[in-house]
Amino acid sequence: MLKLDWTKRFSLNGRFFKSLSFRIMVFFFLIGTIPAMILSCVFLSAYTKQSLTRLANDVNNQCQILASQLGSANYLDDPSNETITGELTQLATLYDGRLLIVDRNFQIMVDTYALEEGRTMLAEEVIKCFKGESTSHYVSGRFIEMTVPIMSSSEEKNIIGVILASASTDSLNARRDSLRNLMEIWLVAGSLCVLVLAVLLSTWLVRPLRYMNKFIGDLVEGTLDGDLDIHDCTETENISDTFNSLLAKLRLMEESRQEFVSNVSHELKTPLASMKVLADSLLMQEGAPVELYQEFMQDIAEEIDRENTIISDLLTLVKTDRKVTGLNVAVTDVNGFLEQILKRLRPIAEQANVEMVFESNRSVSAEIDTTRLSLAFSNLVENAIKYNGENGWVRVSLDADHKFFYVKVSDSGIGIPQESLDYIFERFYRVDKSHSREIGGTGLGLAITKSAVVAHRGAIRVQSEVNQGTTFIVRIPLRYIT
Ligand code: ADP
Repeated sequence: MLKLDWTKRFSLNGRFFKSLSFRIMVFFFLIGTIPAMILSCVFLSAYTKQSLTRLANDVNNQCQILASQLGSANYLDDPSNETITGELTQLATLYDGRLLIVDRNFQIMVDTYALEEGRTMLAEEVIKCFKGESTSHYVSGRFIEMTVPIMSSSEEKNIIGVILASASTDSLNARRDSLRNLMEIWLVAGSLCVLVLAVLLSTWLVRPLRYMNKFIGDLVEGTLDGDLDIHDCTETENISDTFNSLLAKLRLMEESRQEFVSNVSHELKTPLASMKVLADSLLMQEGAPVELYQEFMQDIAEEIDRENTIISDLLTLVKTDRKVTGLNVAVTDVNGFLEQILKRLRPIAEQANVEMVFESNRSVSAEIDTTRLSLAFSNLVENAIKYNGENGWVRVSLDADHKFFYVKVSDSGIGIPQESLDYIFERFYRVDKSHSREIGGTGLGLAITKSAVVAHRGAIRVQSEVNQGTTFIVRIPLRYIT
């Protein structure tokens, strides 16, 4: 049980560390704290440097004053001057340090610690100072040390001795340490504030994503029906608009799928129902004459043919809809191809007493799938014959430009009402159901045609006027676009 809990916790943690909110949080935390840390380090080191320089300058100034006093009082020859001796001790105490006065024989004349008086001092800095190298100071651990020359009051530029001074930096270090402690406390407090802000900010920034995730989850579970509505910022607004259009498309597809299924079942049931009625009425009539049997069987055979047509049209539509099938494209002489179609349909036109004309001003060759387009153009011409009047005409014309070829199928038929023009390419749509049924229509012809044209990256348009006629214009690219 315990093991299970831990596993769960780790997997949760793993997900949390991978999450966008964690990354945003870390990013803002680092952005907020790293510059503060760098700044405090820079500030502390500048502060230390400046205080050391200031201390060195102070000590140096005091030593300069002292050196000139020592020179003018001729202290090195007569060290009995109590005032100067007092000043030396005072200065050493002031800077918590030590003062040594070395004479020109490198003998230590005065040591405020009274430890090394009378000894010889051959330190490098002292020798350098006697040679006239300007005053120098250097830091060694906890002290600033410096040498200041004592000039003779009678002879110019004559160095008669050297003051070797050292000043403690302990108080400076203590001040710097307390400042550092204070800054550390501020840094920790500031980092905590930044952390809280980073958590709030990351939560706020990923809020639209969380909302979106919940929305999609509810949608998948089917407990939601509305649209995604996130207007926090332009990006989320764009995502929600795109998502909503995708949603609308999916809903439309689902609607049309349901409609298609109910249409298919209805269309398939109609011939079956007729057959059932015909068969039942024959069965009910005992000893019915042979002529009646023949007549009814004829009707039943017609219904079977109809059922057959619907099923084969449906199969064609399913096949054309399956994009994976792809097109079997080949360079084709479009004039010959159209003439062939019209030749095949001429007997039907003659039977319906409809004149059929083919017009073409140029020879066109294009990359097309002849099987698919033959079906498409046959449907258009067949419709033009079917929905025509007595002594009507059908005109098929072919034209092309440098990119497309155009096939126009016009007729002098019954026309299509304006309000139906938007729907005629939909499956099973028929302007006049009973008329279409009478002449053997299934309402799938134009859907098949459109699907074949679209597969060729083409377009189809229709213009029509009731009782005047209809014109379908098909545009197909000369070169197949994959
Ligand atoms: P159908 O099998 O019923 O002909 P189609 O999909 O081929 O189905 O056509 C859909 C409907 O569009 C037809 O039922 C008919 O009402 C109308 N239609 C198609 N072509 C023409 C045309 N050339 N003239 C008039 N109406 C047409």
